[in-house]
Parts: sequence; structure tokens; C-alpha cells
Amino acid sequence: DLTGQVAIVTGSTSGIGAAMADALASNGANVIINGLGDADAIEKERAGIAERHGVEVRYHPANMLKSAEIADMVAFAEREFGRLDILMNNAGIQHVAPVDEFPEDKWDAIIAINLTSVFHAAKAALPIMKRQGRGRIVNLASAHGLVASPFKSAYVAAKHGVMGFTKTLALEVAEQGITCNAICPGYVKTPLVENQIGDTAKARGITEEEVVRDVLLAAQPTKQFVTYDQLAGALLYLVSDAGANMNGSWISVDGGWTAK
Ligand code: NAD
Repeated sequence: DLTGQVAIVTGSTSGIGAAMADALASNGANVIINGLGDADAIEKERAGIAERHGVEVRYHPANMLKSAEIADMVAFAEREFGRLDILMNNAGIQHVAPVDEFPEDKWDAIIAINLTSVFHAAKAALPIMKRQGRGRIVNLASAHGLVASPFKSAYVAAKHGVMGFTKTLALEVAEQGITCNAICPGYVKTPLVENQIGDTAKARGITEEEVVRDVLLAAQPTKQFVTYDQLAGALLYLVSDAGANMNGSWISVDGGWTAK
């Protein structure tokens, strides 16, 4: 039961983040959602979560490319609710191309959004969590934080970086009631994955059907996309009291992908 707790979920206007914000709210947490998108759609999502679960939900528009905006998002949690219990760093983007053709601006954006924003958000959240003597930082990494796939150099580098940051921060705060862990999903059918099906088809010169069967779910022994409910189960464990001694570690929810 997360009643009275306050959570930030970055990149929660779509996909996994939206589902995790909803899962935290369904357990009683007040939530700050964040992410890009159409203002009306975001307001509809915000009001929908609040109404479904009877909690307070706010939206903060911080762009994960901007450290000052990320710091303001964390300060906003304290202004609005007076505390911050859970920080879920989830925002992320992808670009699929061979290294020798990889656009430099895409590399920079992926490192900034998928990796550096995690540092900025955690840095801003730590003083609040230390004062409270309790906090939960959960980084949405990926199976690609543990193993690689071709044509995803920036993404794999960023997600491996997230794993290293997760472990380092965990060691620094271990005696202060704060944990920092990662969730490493395999493929989840979100807009991010739908979009890369076409790009991967182009990069490999195969059809989109072949990408789903032979590339995406080829890596995943269960041959099933990971669902939002399966990720919510991992998240709710990590933020619970039962998760207090899990630190600097990760939960793989990848259908067996990284067991190979
Ligand atoms: P998605 O595209 O559906 O959602 C991404 C979210 O991040 C959106 O809310 C978007 O607005 C937000 N975002 C993007 N750029 C931003 C920026 N500059 N500032 C603020 N917000 C920004 O993607 P998703 O599949 O739900 O991915 C969520 C996370 O899960 C990502 O970190 C992704 O790498 C990771 N992940 C996804 C999968 C998968 O199969 N979908 C698997 C493993 C890990």
C-alpha cells in the first residue's frame, strides 16, 4: 500500500511509463507524470489516473535534455506534496542504425535522455530522500543494459551506463534507507517498439513481419511480448518494504533472453 507516498515517473505520457504511473496510483501513491506529447491527451491521462484511483496526479513538462528542468520537476514534487518517495527514471528513446552511419545528434540525444537524465533526476531527489530517511529509485533499463544487439550502439551504451550508475548510487546511499535498482525488460509492445520495427526492417533488408518473428521475439525465448502488468509487479516489489534489502541490483523481465 503506497497511500501517502509520492512518485515521479519520467516519460509517463506513453507506453511503459504511463502504465507504471497508473500502477503506482492504483496502489495509492500520488503521482507526477512527465513526458512529451499533446497537451489535451496529457491532461486526459492525468485526470484519468486521478479519477480511476482517487489520488492526486500532477503533470510536469521537464524535458529530459535539460538539467534545470529536471531539477525543477523534483522541486515541484516537494512544492506540491511536501515529499518524494519514489523516483522512476523511465524516459527513453531509440535509434537503430549501424555505427558507421549513426547520426551524431541521435547519439547525443540518446545518451542525454536515456542516461544523463537519470543522474540529474537522482541528484535532485537525493537530498529529499536523505532527509526522509527513505527513498526508492527505480531505473527502467533494458535487457540491453546487460547484453547487446547490433545497430543499437547508443541505446546499448546508455542502458549499460544506467546499470553502472544504478550500482554506484546504491553503494553511496545504502545506509540511508534509500535503494536504487533497475528493471530490465525484454520487448514490450509500446510505441517505441512499434516505431523501430520499420527501422530494423530497413537496416536488415527484411520485412516487418520477419523483424517481429526473427529479430524481436527471436531474442525472447517465451516468444511473448512482456506486458505492463508483468513490469508493474517488479516495480511494486522494488518500492515495497519487502524490497528494502535489494540494492544496486536488477529484475530481468525478459522471457529468458539474458539467460542465453
Ligand atoms: P515510449 O516511446 O512509449 O515512451 C517514452 C516516453 O518518454 C514518452 O512518454 C516520451 O514522451 C518520453 N520522452 C521521450 N523523450 C523525452 C524527453 N526529451 N523529455 C521527457 N520525456 C521524454 O517508450 P517505451 O517503450 O514505453 O519506453 C519506456 C522506457 O522503457 C525507455 O527507457 C525504454 O528504453 C525502456 N524499454 C522499453 C522496452 C520496450 O520493449 N518497449 C524494452 C526495454 C526497455
